[in-house]
Amino acid sequence: MRFHVAELLKNAIGATSSYEVYEADVVVTDDGSRGPVEGTLSLLRTKSGILARATLRLHQPNVCSRCLTPLEVPLELHIEEEYQPTVDILTGAARPRPEDPGTFLIDEHHILDLTEAVHQYRVLATPMQPLCRPDCAGLCPVCGQNLNDTSCACPRDEYDPRWSALAKLAQSDSEDN
Ligand SMILES: [Zn+2]
Ligand SMILES: [Zn+2]
Repeated sequence: MRFHVAELLKNAIGATSSYEVYEADVVVTDDGSRGPVEGTLSLLRTKSGILARATLRLHQPNVCSRCLTPLEVPLELHIEEEYQPTVDILTGAARPRPEDPGTFLIDEHHILDLTEAVHQYRVLATPMQPLCRPDCAGLCPVCGQNLNDTSCACPRDEYDPRWSALAKLAQSDSEDN
């Protein structure tokens, strides 16, 4: 995810360059799994640096939050971040570091590296509770059977909120009598 931007930095404000992005081996999960990322990137020369706008797609290995079946979550990231040069493109002199430590930087070799932005946007886009399908029935809380495959004979009364509401009604009825 590295792009050499020396030429663009020498251009006037408003200059752009565009790329088709395909990289086969990018970290796509927090535990380090890798996979392909593809999409488009446009770079715009701004007053203070380069505005990177990218639409990137990847498939993230995960598990269903209800039944634990492995699945792949398709993610589309819309990145928009300004990168600031660390050296002056014309003189080669070091430029003052931006005050915000979170600012994305173009290194001293004029490389703009999208990797960290991809990581940050990917973490934000990762669903907290991915599902294998919207109506996933999950696992039986008693025996662990995957209820999408087959049902089981475990008593479900105390786990179904509809039944517990009925049970409360029955209880208050008997208290009334
Ligand atoms: Zn599921
Ligand atoms: Zn069961």
